[in-house]
Amino acid sequence: MTNTFWQEELETLDRARLEALQAKKLRESIARAVQSPFYGKRYRELGLSPDSIRTIADIVKLPFTVKDDLRDAYPFGLLTCPKTDVVRMHCTSGTTGNPAAILHNQHDLDSWANLVARSMYAAGARPDDVFQNMSGYGLFTGGLGFQDGAEKLGCLTIPAAAGNSKRQIKLMMDFGTTVVHSVPSYLGRLHAVFAENGLDPRRDTRLKRLFIGAEPHSEETRLRIQELFGAKAYNSFGMTEMNGPGVGFECACQNGMHIWEDCYVLEIIDPETLQPVPDGEVGEMVLTTLDRQAMPVIRYRTRDLTRVIPETCPCGRTARRIDRITGRTDDMFIIKGCNVFPIQIERVLMRIPELGSDYLIVIEGKPEGDVITIQAELTPAFCTDNFKELENLRRRIIADVRDEILVSPVVQLLSPGEIPRREGKAVRVNDLRKA
Ligand code: AMP
Ligand code: ZN
Repeated sequence: MTNTFWQEELETLDRARLEALQAKKLRESIARAVQSPFYGKRYRELGLSPDSIRTIADIVKLPFTVKDDLRDAYPFGLLTCPKTDVVRMHCTSGTTGNPAAILHNQHDLDSWANLVARSMYAAGARPDDVFQNMSGYGLFTGGLGFQDGAEKLGCLTIPAAAGNSKRQIKLMMDFGTTVVHSVPSYLGRLHAVFAENGLDPRRDTRLKRLFIGAEPHSEETRLRIQELFGAKAYNSFGMTEMNGPGVGFECACQNGMHIWEDCYVLEIIDPETLQPVPDGEVGEMVLTTLDRQAMPVIRYRTRDLTRVIPETCPCGRTARRIDRITGRTDDMFIIKGCNVFPIQIERVLMRIPELGSDYLIVIEGKPEGDVITIQAELTPAFCTDNFKELENLRRRIIADVRDEILVSPVVQLLSPGEIPRREGKAVRVNDLRKA
């Protein structure tokens, strides 16, 4: 059997047909959603029903759903079916209070796996690829989400999970891995372990494609990772509340992530006024599931900031693309009156070849004003005791960061490996003012 996940009819629908399909699926989702205690009560109070939606533009009549709604409804308040129909749950990492738990029936898992397979195919993966998933398995969706999708596509899949770099490298070399999935922050560390063992992934592996996502990263980081591994890196967007991976993915053109609009409604709003912004303008992404039965989530405020790329993609897919995520509304910090996103600093650091991929931004409130300190690791190749060289580098970083964020940082240069490692998503900011 040949598996192809180029689902041409759905992926190239013209706008009118796509929107008609979305309106139909939204009506179905509402009909299901009102079976849940949460949406049942809310929509009844507001007099909303499937008939409220004639065209997809009517979606603005529906209220937003926010993370606290999911937390308050934990664990079963959004469930639309008997618990016996549920086959899987995932949840967000929530460090305090209730997490947001998402429940799936078998249809939901099949639909999700199809979207991940479609995404991987769009980015060039094929059934004869060997796919190694370096994501945590368990409640985090990057593990099982990619696993099911890659199996559906027909790849030989290696569920390596996160960490244990030496074993990752051995598996990669023994099984001839051609495609990996990882958080981008891990790949720099993995490369360091290759180098420590006298290996070079460009020479010693068969890697062709790297799927990177789950955390904000800049184009500079992508270019650096591609250079280190000699393979193309594709951006993957997902979030637990919307299943996990497979919501948006870059195609072979590597120019923004197609959001699979036959299964999600994509809106970008101004987070202050909550009004839609025109295509091309940055705002908060709002997503609605259209193909989830056990737990539809409607007009979910993701808190992720991005924009729709207005041009059509040369690949022929008509699903609109979003630009890379600049950060979450709650990632932004204010220092000396300037609004700063960590990714702005990352962009500067990753342009400096003497620096490795790991860094930490520490912010302290001091009597004389807030201080931002950037701790950045050097690459092993540049580790030097030459004070003058180090001082010149430090000055260059201060100047480049000041140009970007309009505030002068303190810069501390560290040896490779000095910043503590943790599995999963990297923590880049330590704001001691909040401690
Ligand atoms: P989780 O539900 O734990 O997988 O986290 C989802 C969040 O991870 C999203 O809301 C984004 O903030 C972030 N995220 C996921 N994919 C990307 C990506 N490709 N680029 C930037 N941030 C991402
Ligand atoms: Zn495309």
